[in-house]
Amino acid sequence: MPFKSITMQTQPLKTLIIGSGPAGYTAAIYAARADLKPVLYTGMEPGGQLTTTTEVDNFPGYPEGVDGPTMMVQLQQQAERFGTEVHIGMATSVELAQEEGGIHRVTIDNDKVIETQTVIIATGATAKYLGLPSEQRLRGGGVSACAVCDGFFYKGQEVAIVGGGDTACEEATYLANICTKVTMLVRKDHMRASKAMQHRVTSTPNIDLRYNTEIDEVLGDQVVEGLRMVNNQTGDKEQIEITGLFIAIGHKPNTDIFKNQLDMDEAGYLITEGKSTHTNLPGVFASGDVQDKEYRQAVTAAGTGCMAALDAERYLATLSV
Ligand code: NDP
Repeated sequence: MPFKSITMQTQPLKTLIIGSGPAGYTAAIYAARADLKPVLYTGMEPGGQLTTTTEVDNFPGYPEGVDGPTMMVQLQQQAERFGTEVHIGMATSVELAQEEGGIHRVTIDNDKVIETQTVIIATGATAKYLGLPSEQRLRGGGVSACAVCDGFFYKGQEVAIVGGGDTACEEATYLANICTKVTMLVRKDHMRASKAMQHRVTSTPNIDLRYNTEIDEVLGDQVVEGLRMVNNQTGDKEQIEITGLFIAIGHKPNTDIFKNQLDMDEAGYLITEGKSTHTNLPGVFASGDVQDKEYRQAVTAAGTGCMAALDAERYLATLSV
């Protein structure tokens, strides 16, 4: 998909969208159809997290499923069809206006400064991985960071999951419904998850919970075939056969450039007001995983992208009356 070069800016944009996952492109579709003439910068990973997924089977409207990269190209085409300008480039710093009607400045690639009346932030979040070479090699070959996205492919099989937070508990019980056995590795002698979530895990018979346990190596050449685990108290190693490995050790929201300007929670997720996409600054809206640590689905991200465009449109309308 070719990308255009930015047109010379003579006056501030109405809407600048940062990020090119389902949230960013959906915001672009709505903003373009509302004649906000949006410009979208893709970030370092055009298409976002879905481009690292294979099959997407849970996005409504694709009865046969769709592969992640294809879906993202189609979303880009749909956004461009209504006039969105899509550019490759990374927002490297921002100077956000504090006052109603103020002009926001966003620097792209440490070089070009873009002035805009509204900013829609859709920079997403990045799943954390353990960093083991065997884990990295088998990403897409049985190693996944999203059980809801990929669990179905392991129906009737044995899998493992790493982590002891709410996500790991939720995903372990989700997988236990689909798979014959789920081995859950928690590195400490206790879980960080809420008591209710822990209870769900401990009362699910086909989850084999292992405390003080870490991965020594993921086994398999092209695809995951097993796991060598190590007890970090005794040093004892054990090998199990699995076909899927799910990493659920948290996500990092991509919000570094907004620090000290936008309100965030302790983990760095942007805080939005009530059910809206309004941040604490006028004309700045947040959508998708950058403001959602709970649902993190393509379809929920797309939904909040739509909301951000509608919020931006309404904000601009109030300025012109
Ligand atoms: P958390 O940061 O809460 O938990 C991460 C887990 O991964 C911890 O158990 C941590 O272990 C473990 N971990 C981190 N690094 C490693 C590593 N290198 N090796 C092994 N284990 C590791 O992330 P979550 O994604 O679980 O949750 C994020 C937020 O979202 C939380 O606030 C959570 O409550 C919320 N959430 C709520 C849900 C709900 O209410 N339904 C569902 C999902 C998430 P350790 O404890 O040792 O640091």
